[in-house]
Amino acid sequence: MRLHPRTQAAKESVFPKMSALAQRLGAVNLGQGFPSNPPPPFLLEAVRRALGRYDQYAPPAGLPALREALAEEFGVEPESVVVTSGATEAIYVLLQSLVGPGDEVVVLEPFFDVYLPDAFLAGAEARLVRVPLEEGGFRLDLGALERAITERTRLLLLNTPMNPTGLVLGEAELQRIAELAHRHDLFLISDEVYDELYYGERPRRLREFAPERTFTVGSAGKRLEATGYRVGWIVGPKAFMPTLAGMRQWTSFSAPSPLQAGVAEALRVARREGFYEALREGYRRRRDLLLSGLSTMGLKAYPPQGTYFLMAEVPGFDAFRLLEEARVALIPASAFYLEDPPEGLFRFAFCKKEEELTLALERLAPVVNSLA
Ligand code: GLN
Repeated sequence: MRLHPRTQAAKESVFPKMSALAQRLGAVNLGQGFPSNPPPPFLLEAVRRALGRYDQYAPPAGLPALREALAEEFGVEPESVVVTSGATEAIYVLLQSLVGPGDEVVVLEPFFDVYLPDAFLAGAEARLVRVPLEEGGFRLDLGALERAITERTRLLLLNTPMNPTGLVLGEAELQRIAELAHRHDLFLISDEVYDELYYGERPRRLREFAPERTFTVGSAGKRLEATGYRVGWIVGPKAFMPTLAGMRQWTSFSAPSPLQAGVAEALRVARREGFYEALREGYRRRRDLLLSGLSTMGLKAYPPQGTYFLMAEVPGFDAFRLLEEARVALIPASAFYLEDPPEGLFRFAFCKKEEELTLALERLAPVVNSLA
């Protein structure tokens, strides 16, 4: 007996693999992006209160209270929101719903690992557009994006703030992307799970420029520091949303009810009490701590404009050697590229305690210097 060839999508993801190795070797885990700090108490309390009250299925489109809270945030009607089991399910359901065999999906490279398997499982072909890494960092090449569009392209899949580069698309870029999509009649998926994690001005959203064709993906796990809750969402054109809700019935039917209820309440508290400002402040501090530590070591790091990731060069090492010799877990750039990743480039997650960042720097310094 043989499994279906589509199971070739089932390769092991590097993120949990690095976490397991880090744990086994007592390494500092700056690999998989999950916060070391606990979620805010107001979220934990809201979830605890929801247990015993919301214990049965939620509607596939989402608990009304959560759809309403999100509708308020995004300035849309609740009917424009569908709740999913994490942003990962949102992206799967969108790819299944928007594209199929014969269609092309344009994806930026480096990419988050779910995009390509999701395109493959939908039977579509991913066309990669490299985001070049220059002296000053990563920069979107709009010309290359435009050249990647063929008559078979149906969808552009973007991620801003972008994992792993930390790139945040500016207004002029969003405008150009919207024009491109309009001209070629394309759908847009904007993965904005790090929407509250930016270090400059509050970014605009792609959907503001092309509301009729944009699906915005979001995540309570990222916003509220609880990646295990698996509560995500899609905000999109109202006419398409009942169908998306119908499609997500066949994956997990509905996201866990008590977590949806807790998140609905917590999203309101977070906005009202300035939680995101404090979150950004904390991450800005940790980003700067890591950047300055790396530069003291003589390593080239690329400051991110958003997310809790940064890319830096540790030439002459691979991730396993760093794990064994320095006992620091990082994600190698190769996890985000189909081929030819930039040499010696690693992703550092700084959603970790300051002590962990300091310890990682202390452990890296002698190992890195041993090569100098
Ligand atoms: N989004 C997280 C990261 O980039 C982890 C995702 C995962 O483990 N699937 O590290």
